[in-house]
Amino acid sequence: MSTIIRRLEEIRARMDAAALKAGRNPGEVGLVAVSKTRSVEAVREAFDGGQAIFGENRVQELLAKAPLLPAALRWHLIGHLQKNKIRKVLPVVDLIHGVDTAELARDIDRIAAELGLFPRVLLEVNVSGEGTKFGFDPEVLREQIGELLALPRVQVEGLMTIAPYAEEAETARPFFVKLRALRDEIAVKTARPLPTLSMGMSGDFEVAIAEGSTLVRVGTAIFGDRGEILSG
Ligand SMILES: *Cc1c(COP(=O)(O)O)cnc(C)c1O
Repeated sequence: MSTIIRRLEEIRARMDAAALKAGRNPGEVGLVAVSKTRSVEAVREAFDGGQAIFGENRVQELLAKAPLLPAALRWHLIGHLQKNKIRKVLPVVDLIHGVDTAELARDIDRIAAELGLFPRVLLEVNVSGEGTKFGFDPEVLREQIGELLALPRVQVEGLMTIAPYAEEAETARPFFVKLRALRDEIAVKTARPLPTLSMGMSGDFEVAIAEGSTLVRVGTAIFGDRGEILSG
């Protein structure tokens, strides 16, 4: 068995165990295999190993890889989306994780109308307040959520966050708790369920699942350290 497939199976087993430990149904938690910087061959191997969803953070890289891989493969854009890339990426992606301003949401909505699409998106929230991070300030999101949910084309399915980098997975827990609490608060206020919480990466996905994640984004734990070459 290849290293990628063995690691994928390990990750899925750890995800299931984390869900069960938290009293959750493992079927509620999806895995986005983060394939940024990875070769088309590595992605195909993971796909052949049963992995359906892949995440890229750069539009250009996503658009270069997508035509070389099976159409059944699902792409998520997990990184920052620039306005001038919206038109190209909308037809190719299943879910956009990083909608981080109302202006971007409006631009996506307008272009989606021109293309006849109803894009699914997550709103990225900067729950840590780190200046270097993209994402809505929670207070700004509270003010703008009504407008965002009223957009006719964009379908807001939930929230996403990136926890600050830390050696210890536990360090991320308060940020995951904050994202879920914000989602719960907004869902009640707007009477919209916003079911998806995209949180957790290689170093902290089990903690994220314990705190309610429904979509973990895992790169290095599947494909190895970036720079490490994995072959079948
Ligand atoms: C790269 C990336 C990941 C995956 O990180 P790993 O530590 O390699 O698992 C997850 N989310 C986003 C937004 C990323 O850019």
